[in-house]
Amino acid sequence: MRVAVFSTKRYDELALRAANEDHGHELAFCEPRLTRETVPLAEGFDAVCAFVNDDLSANVLVTLARGGTRLVLLRCAGFNQVDLSTAEQVGITVARVPAYSPHAVAEHTVGLMLALNRKIHRAYARTRESNFSIDGFMGFDFVGKTVGVVGTGKIGETLLGIMKGFGCELLATDPYPNPEVERLGAEYVEPDTLAARSDIVSLHCPLTPQTFHLINHRTLSLMKPGAMLINTSRGALVDASAAIEALKDGRLGYLGLDVYEEESDLFFQDLSDRVVTDDTFMRLLTFPNVLVTSHQAFFTQEAVANIARTTLANATSFEADDGQAHLVTRDMVA
Ligand code: NAD
Repeated sequence: MRVAVFSTKRYDELALRAANEDHGHELAFCEPRLTRETVPLAEGFDAVCAFVNDDLSANVLVTLARGGTRLVLLRCAGFNQVDLSTAEQVGITVARVPAYSPHAVAEHTVGLMLALNRKIHRAYARTRESNFSIDGFMGFDFVGKTVGVVGTGKIGETLLGIMKGFGCELLATDPYPNPEVERLGAEYVEPDTLAARSDIVSLHCPLTPQTFHLINHRTLSLMKPGAMLINTSRGALVDASAAIEALKDGRLGYLGLDVYEEESDLFFQDLSDRVVTDDTFMRLLTFPNVLVTSHQAFFTQEAVANIARTTLANATSFEADDGQAHLVTRDMVA
């Protein structure tokens, strides 16, 4: 198939070229994000390959279909950026990579927890200035603390397994309880109970209309004073303005973010010589107890190679119509 690859970074190109040796698709790499402005680049391509911040809203999909595109290959698990009903209407099939390494995301989540707790991000800066004082860096033992996981699919389950190793008490919430998680000893509770009982809350559910701003003024007010919140799932699960208020009044003790609601204009780019105009985001960066990484939780050698392999296998299966492609269907958001 002729595939236009959007939002291409060097590591995407290397991984896709290597994986393509088993498939022989014709890949055209474009650096820009897929947007209304860049969609003409896809004209005449059978498929577009897109990442988390590419725009696959109705307008873009209609233009893609007019240009002959029949397939969207998402190089990610989440599909909240795709207007699935329009895709269906215009005859575009959507495929994704349902699992590439839950370990990558779960381990990065633990990295954020540890760094925030022991102030490793601040210690790094201090020691580089030959300031070897440890004042202000006192943390807490994880053993015996309660970790609450929202969404116990592949990543949530992996995280709970790791936190069990730390000796934490485990709470979970999910409309579809996972028996493996129960075997780990986690207790399923209602979302509000999880908020009220957890020392650390970590989000691992998809972004859907039901989970938009799941963390808001109300849920933050339920949390233990000084609790830690980690979001490595999707930015819009957290109302960032509400989180800022909770950080200002000290109710929220720590915030670790790998995702941010308005990240599409920020993340995956070097903006170091520009003025960032998102005041909410810049306010978040001023707190000593907030740690932001720019959507890198997935970014391990294993995950990137798996993403490339599954993405191209999806293209091959679509072409062969062998029923093996990992398709996204509208009932998955019902
Ligand atoms: P998964 O589909 O295996 O699990 C998601 C779980 O969330 C399911 O068990 C589902 O029942 C549950 N869920 C749905 N609605 C819920 C709700 N309202 N409350 C609680 N639970 C709910 O997905 P996964 O592979 O574990 O990935 C989880 C999320 O992580 C993805 O949706 C994606 O947004 C995000 N992700 C982020 C990165 C990154 O680099 N930061 C990488 C991969 C995935």
